[in-house]
Amino acid sequence: MSNTPDVAEFARRIRGHTLRMVHAANASHIGGCLSMADILAVLYARILKNDPARPTDPDRDRFILSKGHATAILYAALAERGFFPVAELATYCKDGSKLTGHISHGVPGVEVSTGSLGHGLPIAVGMAMASKADRRANRIFCVMSDGECDEGSNWEAILFAPHHKLDNLVAVVDFNKLQSFGRVSEVLALEPFADKWRAFGWHAVEIDGHDLERLATTFESVPQARGKPTVVIAHTIKGRGVSFMEDRLEWHYKSPNAAQLAQALAEVGA
Ligand SMILES: [Mg+2]
Repeated sequence: MSNTPDVAEFARRIRGHTLRMVHAANASHIGGCLSMADILAVLYARILKNDPARPTDPDRDRFILSKGHATAILYAALAERGFFPVAELATYCKDGSKLTGHISHGVPGVEVSTGSLGHGLPIAVGMAMASKADRRANRIFCVMSDGECDEGSNWEAILFAPHHKLDNLVAVVDFNKLQSFGRVSEVLALEPFADKWRAFGWHAVEIDGHDLERLATTFESVPQARGKPTVVIAHTIKGRGVSFMEDRLEWHYKSPNAAQLAQALAEVGA
């Protein structure tokens, strides 16, 4: 891709946009936005082959955000990539705006509306299967939360994808160890997490979800195992980049006040 934006700068910009959006709307989910900021920055600044000028190109890479509550930062990434004007981010969650509080496919660049958890991966599996049937070379990326891995629908999809050899499918789990009401390890433990995916037939890799280079090289080299879907278990920190939000459960729901916003923007360098 020509004019590829700098990934680190892209990550700073989308963190900044998202902090301002969530503050202005007095909205939730800043913690789960910041934990996947670096994943989205790598995908949107470097990896995904999707052209804002041709949003329905059948050969485009697909991106599905299954944790549809954390949509503010995806809107920020889409705006930065030119799917709609950055100025429109200021309308997030306002009356009449298409930038709804849970993700909407009415927004340019958004493939599907999600928010009821456990739906994104099954949809991604269907898209991957359709691409295989049509002999297309595109890839399907789906970012999931750790908490939504409690949903049985995901495990049906996890069983199904390897049987159909969907090596064009990449699940990325934003493994920030917190879900809405507590620690993942206390609400419903996932470990040994990678082993579970492997037992179902997936190629599983575990990486630091804030290491931009490692994320890029991992996504660039998919499929690493022919005939197998890939899961990237990205170890992340909820609220990453803002000292008073990092690994703190309350920032699943809380919105930063004016003073907190100022400090947060300074800390993320936005
Ligand atoms: Mg989580």
